[in-house]
Amino acid sequence: MNSRVNRADVMNDLITSVGGSVHLPGSDTTCNSAAERRTTLLVKCRNTNEVRLAVRAARLRNFPLAVRGAGHDWVGRSSNHDRMVIDLSAMRRVTVDPITRIATVEGGATAADVINAARPYGLVAVTGNVGAVDIAGQTLGGGYGPLTPKFGLALDNLVNAEVVLDDGSLVTVIAQLFALGNPLFSNVGMMSYADMLARFDVCAVNGRSYAVQTRWLADMSCESVTALLAAGNTRPSATSGIYVQHFHGAGTRIATSSSAFGLRRRHFLIEIVGSWDPDTGDDGAAYRQWARGLSSSLAPSAIPGRYANLLAADAFEQIDAAYGCNALRLRRLKRRFDPDGAFSGRNSPLPLNQGS
Ligand SMILES: Cc1cc2nc3c(=O)[nH]c(=O)nc-3n(C[C@H](O)[C@H](O)[C@H](O)COP(=O)(O)OP(=O)(O)OC[C@H]3O[C@@H](n4cnc5c(N)ncnc54)[C@H](O)[C@@H]3O)c2cc1C
Repeated sequence: MNSRVNRADVMNDLITSVGGSVHLPGSDTTCNSAAERRTTLLVKCRNTNEVRLAVRAARLRNFPLAVRGAGHDWVGRSSNHDRMVIDLSAMRRVTVDPITRIATVEGGATAADVINAARPYGLVAVTGNVGAVDIAGQTLGGGYGPLTPKFGLALDNLVNAEVVLDDGSLVTVIAQLFALGNPLFSNVGMMSYADMLARFDVCAVNGRSYAVQTRWLADMSCESVTALLAAGNTRPSATSGIYVQHFHGAGTRIATSSSAFGLRRRHFLIEIVGSWDPDTGDDGAAYRQWARGLSSSLAPSAIPGRYANLLAADAFEQIDAAYGCNALRLRRLKRRFDPDGAFSGRNSPLPLNQGS
């Protein structure tokens, strides 16, 4: 592929057809400054129709695609330099139907956008812990959060999704709903949910550099607790941290095959986040080493696989275990709906072929 020629052609097509805001290469703002941040071509779509036109323009010229929600993927999957990035940050509209308790959410809306839209009705959405993360981005791979024990993952509360396919066509996918019998939203008392999430905003400072490792643990064994405490006591910076999410309750009662999420048994998700200031010129080696060190210490008692939304770029051997018994089915769907890998970046959490 000659990307220079293609880029000019695609750009012209986009300007005439999409009319959205089209940007040429440059560095841009994603959450992790240690991840790749250069984009070749970025189109900021304002509605679904513009997304469809952008996909068609790219596919017509055989130009590969990436999609960006809120840009919080820690290895920069939404900023690939050899792809056209469809940026959804101008599509953040959320409407809430208080009778059905269903929110209709555009692809670029953040968790905070959904929570703020629900608040006037005394309702709250099932989201991850940080308001700035895109609700669609986290829902794609799971979405662990404070309400998970009661209502499952963000993914478990999906009712349906409009999906733009690789030819620009639009389909509606009905989520295979589980038998929780719980609403999408629920009242919470004492502290507002938005305030609760705001406490985690310090973890989501854009522009810092991050090295992330995750582990799934079946339980907190003495060895694991000892390793966690030791790593906690040797954090390489005050902004580095270890976050523990306890997956239990509602989410464990859902059949593994009813969604893409691979691990339905009770477990702890351990997120190890080394964080440093890129302006100091630090190469981050000590932070990566700290995160890898704890990950290795936890390995003997860990469940195989890692959380798909936080997979490392080179963790190909982890992909199948991340999706568990769903991996084969997901690959089949991927081959059916994206046979050319138009949406598969080099760091795709679900590449067409293992090791690609
Ligand atoms: C500070 C921080 C806190 C986090 N906290 C949690 C947490 O509490 N719980 C949890 O489960 N996870 C958490 N995560 C992980 C988070 O779920 C993933 O990083 C998620 O993929 C980020 O989505 P995004 O859209 O913001 O990022 P992006 O980088 O924009 O997108 C991530 C991936 O999703 C794809 N994508 C995003 N939106 C769409 C869309 N509308 N259509 C198609 N593809 C799309 C992108 O192409 C990319 O591959 C956290 C991450 C960070 C950085």
